Amino acid sequence: MTFKIEEIQAKSIISATKVPSADYVINPYTGCQFGCMYCFASFMGRFVGESNQNWGNYVYVKSNAVELIQKDILRLMKKSPHPRVILSTVTDPYQGLEKKYRLTRGILQTFASHQYQGRIGVLTKSPMILDDLDILKKIPNVEVGITITTSDDKLSRFLEIAAPSASARLKTLRALNDAGIQTYAFVGPLLPHMKHKPELLDKLFSEIKAAGTSTVKVEYLNLPQYVRSRMNDVIQQESEEIQVIYQNSQSENYREALEAIIRGYLDKYEFRLYFDEIVHHISKQNLVENNG
Ligand code: SF4
Repeated sequence: MTFKIEEIQAKSIISATKVPSADYVINPYTGCQFGCMYCFASFMGRFVGESNQNWGNYVYVKSNAVELIQKDILRLMKKSPHPRVILSTVTDPYQGLEKKYRLTRGILQTFASHQYQGRIGVLTKSPMILDDLDILKKIPNVEVGITITTSDDKLSRFLEIAAPSASARLKTLRALNDAGIQTYAFVGPLLPHMKHKPELLDKLFSEIKAAGTSTVKVEYLNLPQYVRSRMNDVIQQESEEIQVIYQNSQSENYREALEAIIRGYLDKYEFRLYFDEIVHHISKQNLVENNG
């Protein structure tokens, strides 16, 4: 199957959001080259005429994104305090195409050059964010989240088909911390493999801490029907134990048992838990914050 890339002119680039950590979201691309099997954002296909199953095979590039934000920022800056903005919630702002289009870079540059005071959050799985360290350092109130669901590169490759390896993400986290950028690790979704072997979680949290990050955002595996239809295909290739855990993963008992394990590791490694809770939002499809 050939990968489809289409340049489009977006009508707007910034949208109000109900996600708890931001007032506005910016998604410079529709679609994502990383194609994670658990991706909540696959529902975005319906806005561009793509099927859910085709997620990971197309990207619509909002070529005028930087032009649009240059106008929008003036409107945002009239508000007091300046609203919190996050890139991105339904795409990865540093997927491979960013190398060519540099939309995320242009957007961040705009916030930096206006010395925008509101919180700018960036959430990604990609080391390419390090290309923009110079700009990140110039934004007064920036926070970068790196999504790391496992420290096992093999497992990561299995479910996060074309995303950078887990070890590359851990290295990125360390480089960001070394550069003095405020970071957190987004551990989500919690894969069934982690419940099967909690020592994998122990290793993951220990490596995040060793990378210099002390805040984590954690999210359960949320399986609305459109996510389940993609996940089922890959989980069938897993062991029976994993399949059983996966089938049980949406129950309250499951979440309670997992929370006890997670809380133990948070205490062990002295992490601050974002929102002070593990995110669970299956019934709130529009509160998507689990991507990047
Ligand atoms: S989870 Fe994030 S990186 Fe993965 S496909 Fe979805 S938007 Fe892209």
